[in-house]
Amino acid sequence: MNKIHNKIKLLNQKSSLEFLPNLSNKLGPKIYIKRDDEGGRGGGGNKLRKYERIIADALNKKADTLIIAGHFQSNASRALVGAACQLGLKSVVVCKTMIPEQNPTFNENGNALLMKLMNANIITIKQEDDFQTEMERIADNLSKEGKSPYIIPFGGSNLLGSLGYLDCANEIIEQFKDLEGKSPDYIVTSAGSGGTMAGLVAGFALARTETKVLGFSVLHKDKTIEGIVTHLTNEIVNNIKPNSNIKPNFQLDTNLVGDAYGIPTEKGKRAIKMFAELEGLFLCPVYTSKAMAGLVEYIKENKIKKNETVVFIYTGGMPLVHAYYNLYE
Ligand SMILES: *Cc1c(COP(=O)(O)O)cnc(C)c1O
Repeated sequence: MNKIHNKIKLLNQKSSLEFLPNLSNKLGPKIYIKRDDEGGRGGGGNKLRKYERIIADALNKKADTLIIAGHFQSNASRALVGAACQLGLKSVVVCKTMIPEQNPTFNENGNALLMKLMNANIITIKQEDDFQTEMERIADNLSKEGKSPYIIPFGGSNLLGSLGYLDCANEIIEQFKDLEGKSPDYIVTSAGSGGTMAGLVAGFALARTETKVLGFSVLHKDKTIEGIVTHLTNEIVNNIKPNSNIKPNFQLDTNLVGDAYGIPTEKGKRAIKMFAELEGLFLCPVYTSKAMAGLVEYIKENKIKKNETVVFIYTGGMPLVHAYYNLYE
């Protein structure tokens, strides 16, 4: 079987698609939320969909140890350790600071705490060390010991990982048909390493819907992220339906990043409060709050109309709420 179809099960069922009555009432358009924070091990979140094919590939290659790199508050690392626990695999997390410490417990609270509880093997590298080089060095050493290591791509955003969000697009199309009888006008998501957005863009385009995927960058402030998403989208489309004349429908906005990745913004902080007060759901300062701030802005500027429908992809990241506990002090 083609390896793009080879996947393991890290999530039990489809994630819920819920209507947000209070937010819709306040902002105008009908807004739904795709609960990709639900289910799975290690605290869940969008990375698990990506790992369903990435870890399948690792297992296919007889890997016994998964290696990932990131900062101390990485959702990607935390979810990977959880999946590895479930599957009885070993994991190595290569860590260094990427976000300036936001408070005295920043590198111990939130995701760092959860990784510690799962007894993660965390290797802290020097600030000037390169993640990829260090992961390869660790992999070489493991191979010499007779182990079989596998390096997880950055953010899980390669072809195999991004396909997890093609699955998500198909779920939404099916669920939305029951709810509204058609496909949504907009999908709103944050874009970090870009795989989540690319999978969604490819999924809605391949299904020949009119749905536009609107992504708010949280990392790159320039055209880099558009290049990444375009490349990954094309790669997915070419693998699923080669030589098809499919036109991806997406827009990437880099104006909501703020100062830098992981640095909260005023608009994001307002979005977190609004969402918690209205809907009892928690956005994180790093990803989802910046996407929600973007959605609010687009509605205010009438770029998204009151009679249109929106699905907001809730990618998880709850532990970050705790890591940034002093955000409102
Ligand atoms: C990683 C992450 C994202 C971004 O996903 P990408 O595929 O890297 O763009 C968004 N939200 C949360 C909570 C994440 O952990």
